[in-house]
Amino acid sequence: MARELHTDGEGDTAAHARIAALEAEVEALRARERTLRDILLSIPDMITVHDRNESIVFSNWKGDDLYWENLGGERHGSRCYGCYFRGEKQCDACQIAEVFDTGVQKSIELYNPEIRAFRSITVFPVHNAAGEVVMVAEYVRDVTATRRMERELRVAKEAAEAADKAKSEFLASMSHEIRTPMNGVLGMLDLALDTRLDDEQRDYLEAAQNSAESLLALINDILDFSKIEAGMVELDSQAFRLRKRLSTLHTMFVHRAEEKGLAFGFRIGEEVPDGLVGDPMRLRQVLVNLLDNAIKFTEQGRVYLDVQLDAAQGALPAEGEPILLRFSVTDSGPGILESHREHIFERFVQADGSLSRRHRGTGLGLAICKRLATLMGGDITVESAPGSGSTFTFTASFERASFDGAADDRKLARQPQKPVTPARILVAEDHPMNLMFIEKLLAKQGYEVHTVTDGTEVLPALQRERFDLVLMDIAMPVMDGIEATRSVRQAGNMITDKNVPIIAMTAHAMKGDREQFLAAGMDDYIGKPINSDNLCNMLLKHLQRARRAAEGASASSPA
Ligand code: ADP
Repeated sequence: MARELHTDGEGDTAAHARIAALEAEVEALRARERTLRDILLSIPDMITVHDRNESIVFSNWKGDDLYWENLGGERHGSRCYGCYFRGEKQCDACQIAEVFDTGVQKSIELYNPEIRAFRSITVFPVHNAAGEVVMVAEYVRDVTATRRMERELRVAKEAAEAADKAKSEFLASMSHEIRTPMNGVLGMLDLALDTRLDDEQRDYLEAAQNSAESLLALINDILDFSKIEAGMVELDSQAFRLRKRLSTLHTMFVHRAEEKGLAFGFRIGEEVPDGLVGDPMRLRQVLVNLLDNAIKFTEQGRVYLDVQLDAAQGALPAEGEPILLRFSVTDSGPGILESHREHIFERFVQADGSLSRRHRGTGLGLAICKRLATLMGGDITVESAPGSGSTFTFTASFERASFDGAADDRKLARQPQKPVTPARILVAEDHPMNLMFIEKLLAKQGYEVHTVTDGTEVLPALQRERFDLVLMDIAMPVMDGIEATRSVRQAGNMITDKNVPIIAMTAHAMKGDREQFLAAGMDDYIGKPINSDNLCNMLLKHLQRARRAAEGASASSPA
């Protein structure tokens, strides 16, 4: 062939041209191979290709970084375990043989404790043109940094969750610790105010009651915001008289307004019904905040409250139907700049630094109001212009309720509610003042009261004697009310009436508590500070229900 190429000049030229073309083609192929090789060698992850004997036929050398061993020499022909781990036999996790046999890709993640590193390994078959598995490749990625970061994030998340839980628990116990003694103070004042007093004594006690109520309101304010933020606030639902409540508010603010020389008044639309069901304390809280701000920031002119049916309400709804009311507090104070108006409902925001320095405040009030308005199915907005006063408008949804026209709130609260038939009540409460308050209150209603001071004493008391109802404190020193209730409801505990109504009493009042009490077998729940009226009504309801159930059972049982 070589000789033929040299036979004549013309043939030589053609042969040279062909050789040159072939050489160029070979060079192009080499260049392409170099490029592919450069690409493969530059891939930051390790690629190792194995033949049927599991010997390495190609590696991009990244194994040196990954597996820490720098062998320096040739890897081709060696086994990966000998090469990278200096091992004598295949690793337990090796997938190469399996992928050769099945032709199916496998992925695993391994942790190498020696070098404290995580490897994500994908083992995949390399097919020829006929579709046969001729080689198996391993793609190994160092995922140590990612796994470490994931672990750190997980640890941080768990720490945040634990902190959040601790915060909720702290709030729960704080509110319990503070409310329990306040419950005692308010309860005792309530009892004292119900005794025969001369005018001077009544004045002193009423002043003490006012201060105690303000203190409780203040504590509630601080706790409130955190509780609302944590989604732990549930609204109360009780019947109340709107006009009576507003009149108390008027009395509360009128002197302050007059002292500042401000005209002060409330306008309540005639069509606004008086009997409502809702949370009067939360309504009061929002109005107190708005009126307090209005008087605080207004130096001259007027402050007034206007209450109307919300325009969106349409016709007056029937009893038991929801009703949307609109409360507007208008003042002739300094007004609020537009740029500040957008932010005053955010927490810790005080619109005007110079004004705020002159007037005390935390910047929490409006943030609480905004959240409470939303909880009450309404909203709060402000219209204002610097120099021409402000109007804060707050809407809230209630239900209509009916009241006996003659009675007012106070009279209703003071009406003695004697039990229909005498009943024996077991009270479990560890706080001496609370215990005394409940004992006196129930005795006054004509109930026979027996008291214990811990959950452990409930079961023995019920085994010894028969009671018609149990009032159970939740937090008690040795056994809490929930555990005590479970022991009462349990089978085989020698109690004659395992279904005895049990009412929880707690200062916790956290969202989800009610469900927990009911799940433990309690029938109802009353929050502290205990409202005597609510407690008496609740007792009557459960005693009557239990009695009806007992009568039904004896009527249907064979004589
Ligand atoms: P604070 O406890 O500081 O009063 P608020 O949340 O109740 O907190 O109010 C936030 C800020 O909004 C106040 O500091 C004040 O700057 C502004 N503000 C609230 N009500 C009025 C008002 N009626 N007139 C003028 N500015 C007001």
